[in-house]
Amino acid sequence: MRRERIPVAVLGATGVVGQRFVRHLAGHPDFELRFVAASERSVGKAYAEACDWRLPGEPYAGFGEMRVVPCDPAVAAAPLVFSALDAAAAGVIEPFFAEAGAMVFSNASAYRMEEDVPLLVPELNAAHLGLIDVQRKRRGWKGAIVTNPNCTTVPLAASLGPLHRAFGAEAAMVVSMQALSGAGYPGVASLDALANVFPFIKGEEEKVESESLKILGSFDGERVLPASIAISAQCNRVPVVDGHTIALNYRLGGSPDPEEVVAALESFVPDTEGLGLHTAPARFLQVRREPDRPQPRRDADEDGGMRVMIGRVRKCPLFGIKMIALGHNTERGAAGASVLNAELALAKGYL
Ligand code: NAP
Repeated sequence: MRRERIPVAVLGATGVVGQRFVRHLAGHPDFELRFVAASERSVGKAYAEACDWRLPGEPYAGFGEMRVVPCDPAVAAAPLVFSALDAAAAGVIEPFFAEAGAMVFSNASAYRMEEDVPLLVPELNAAHLGLIDVQRKRRGWKGAIVTNPNCTTVPLAASLGPLHRAFGAEAAMVVSMQALSGAGYPGVASLDALANVFPFIKGEEEKVESESLKILGSFDGERVLPASIAISAQCNRVPVVDGHTIALNYRLGGSPDPEEVVAALESFVPDTEGLGLHTAPARFLQVRREPDRPQPRRDADEDGGMRVMIGRVRKCPLFGIKMIALGHNTERGAAGASVLNAELALAKGYL
């Protein structure tokens, strides 16, 4: 028998990531969009009026007439909340919802590195969901905050996680080529973006380095012990619409050759295997053999943007192994990731 769908509020529903949440929720089997919430600028307007819809397909995903409400748990009263708020707004608003009893799945960086907040890539660290119990006990909340990582962290963690399990990772160097949509809309000024590489994204390198260690860390029932890997990141904005490409150099225990590395990536069994999560990709990782793949324009949308693509796995004279990885920044690195986290929480009895 089909159970009733869980009522949902989307905070920051008018933004680049918020729109993707709204589109995910149209026709979701378990979740039902009841509230679109945004800033005072948008409150009271119809969603179609408040939101500059940027996605292909049905405009406003069919929710154009829904009224935008304030980000207030007394108004947007739903047990399940997706947050696409700016980090500063999220830092203030999300705890009100968790305190009021909502399960908040957040894209924002505000709580990702808090000791008692899960930072999830469900295929890699589903067990970290157990931090919800620690968080509720410590903060006295009926709800909780669960986060997904920065969009550049995802392809790094997705490629490094299986290799860390197989060989033990010692060091990683990452250079990113990040899409413009990662900066929201309108984002980077066209005169900075066009035919250019912009070599600075505020706070990004620190996030990539620290979040990856938390995701690949081990949960002992009380806390996550971060992985002990030296990670160095350099982040750049490039004139690509969607999809963050990262160039990776890895030093792995036992110095495996490229064939062994590819075998470890391809044989990796995600933690979500067999759970039947609606938004989970058919394949978490795909290793491309062509010399010129993956490319964001051709490969970022695979599996609804939820598959991480890897290519050019080869020897590195400095670190041992090098490769390219690609992840869709607003799906695998944002809205899709959050929806998948909520589906995992539902499967594990937290919703
Ligand atoms: P965005 O397009 O600028 O949208 C921001 C949203 O937050 C809008 O709906 C805005 O509402 C709302 N908002 C801003 N200040 C508010 C306030 N004080 N009170 C209530 N609502 C407020 O940003 P985005 O690119 O979608 O990013 C959203 C979040 O996801 C950020 O934390 C970002 O770091 C994170 N993230 C983004 C990406 C990406 O690839 N874009 C990837 C991972 C994570 P109004 O329209 O009413 O102003």
